[in-house]
Amino acid sequence: MAMTHDIADAMDSVRERVRRACDRAGRDAASVQLIAVSKGHPEAAIRAAYEAGMRVFGENYAQELASKASALRDLTDLRWRFIGHLQRNKIKLIEGARATVDTVDSVRLAQAISVRATERAMDVEVLIQVNVGGEAQKSGCAPDEVPQLVEAVRALPGVTLRGLMTVAPHLEDAEATRPFFAALRTLADANGLSGLSMGMTHDLEQAVAEGATMLRIGTAIFGPRPPAKR
Ligand SMILES: *Cc1c(COP(=O)(O)O)cnc(C)c1O
Repeated sequence: MAMTHDIADAMDSVRERVRRACDRAGRDAASVQLIAVSKGHPEAAIRAAYEAGMRVFGENYAQELASKASALRDLTDLRWRFIGHLQRNKIKLIEGARATVDTVDSVRLAQAISVRATERAMDVEVLIQVNVGGEAQKSGCAPDEVPQLVEAVRALPGVTLRGLMTVAPHLEDAEATRPFFAALRTLADANGLSGLSMGMTHDLEQAVAEGATMLRIGTAIFGPRPPAKR
């Protein structure tokens, strides 16, 4: 993979896409943070992206995050974001990585994170994941549950709520995802939240146009993912 796919070049292209999208939207490119989604890719690929200036990485599986964080702990300013579905019994696995949890979708999960964080005198930054497309197979709370969940998470010690996250439906025509991104932004505004993690390789332009502050980019940086082991 590293032979045929140059990560530094790929990152330049992604940054250019973000810059152009920001120009069109009249936004400052510095207002959009890139998260390199490294699930399924080896440690060497993460090091290559780090060398090319990337500092924030997203992982979907607790065990994979734990192993990579341990192997890459020499990169002291590398930051991890957990973007997969988190089972409560796996929270302890990601503590060592000091990862954010971008996929809180229930009070029970938020409470469990809070308990562990408080015990360990940590503060965990979280996002609430919203299933804006109402897709049965996707995680995330329903849009109408957001106000309640926001209130509950804000009241918990050891967790700091930074915003909302969504995985929009994958539509052939990326332009068609805009209403879903707009819906997430409206929910964030209504709840006084500024962080918006939305937009992936296929639809980052639309997400920027709708106000994304974090983009989760896998394929456009690392190339196609090797087949999942699970
Ligand atoms: C895999 C993944 C991404 C990255 O998707 P690409 O299409 O490869 O950019 C972003 N967000 C989540 C939640 C993912 O699971």
